[in-house]
Amino acid sequence: MSGRFVVVGAGTMGLGIAYVAAGAGYAVELVEVDPARGAAAVERLGELWERGVQRGKLTADDAVANRARLTLRAGLGEVAEGPDVVVEAVPERLDLKRAVLLEAAARRPALLGSNTSSIPIAELATGLDRPGAFLGLHFFNPVWAMALLEIVVGPATAPESTDAAVALAGRLGKDPVVVRDMPGFATSRLGVTLGLEAIRMVADGVAAPADIDKAMVLGYRHPVGPLELTDLVGLDVRLDIARTLQAAYGDRFAPPPLLEEMVAAGKLGKKSGQGFYRWENGVKS
Ligand code: NAD
Repeated sequence: MSGRFVVVGAGTMGLGIAYVAAGAGYAVELVEVDPARGAAAVERLGELWERGVQRGKLTADDAVANRARLTLRAGLGEVAEGPDVVVEAVPERLDLKRAVLLEAAARRPALLGSNTSSIPIAELATGLDRPGAFLGLHFFNPVWAMALLEIVVGPATAPESTDAAVALAGRLGKDPVVVRDMPGFATSRLGVTLGLEAIRMVADGVAAPADIDKAMVLGYRHPVGPLELTDLVGLDVRLDIARTLQAAYGDRFAPPPLLEEMVAAGKLGKKSGQGFYRWENGVKS
């Protein structure tokens, strides 16, 4: 199978989306404005494919082929017109995403998606000349391990685009849900609720983070606790989402002061080495 798949932003999510798209046979262009982050993402993808071979998940030939399908780009200006898919995975800021989406739309993709966790698709679609081709393609972290793709249908999204997104999910090995365009969609609205309350409980001294997480893992069969999940997602990412949801739904989503303090102190979770847990070489300690 062929086709061109462009991912904008080579952070936590962009890297994972690039991984599954290359694995599905797309020629992947990974667009990243920060050269150091771009280089680190390509190196990390190489390690992931190598690890896949070691674990017997893919053959050495497939790993080489996936790597060969990946190209790093310094900007959308380097991307030729007419890709099959463009997905933006830049930080959760409305103005930044709008600017990136306008530039991405100018490449005339057949399908244009945003990996936003919380911003309504209708707000992101402002100014797009073909809003029918645009929708939410919300992947989960780590993208290669998480089965869900939340497809968010905006008021102007064409039915053919929703159908194309469902087909795309199948090609990428994902199981889709199609949801209406509301801030936080189906997943972030509930997931962030639990995360914010767990942070308030740490601040209240209810229990240590590890015990709050253990309570949800053993008591409610969650695969990971809400604080470890916050570390995996990134405290900065969750703070941005909380602010978006607060603006939409009111103060029940107000970020707890502890979250704001930790982000200000650079405690962003796994990616910075410290969050509610300490992380060394990607492993919780
Ligand atoms: P991140 O901060 O790890 O990565 C964002 C990347 O985008 C950075 O490398 C940054 O340099 C790059 N970037 C910024 N402006 C750019 C531009 N104009 N062109 C190209 N690259 C640019 O963020 P992330 O955690 O990967 O989150 C990205 C999006 O995915 C956000 O909307 C977030 O809400 C959403 N999301 C995150 C998670 C998660 O678990 N982290 C899960 C689902 C969805």
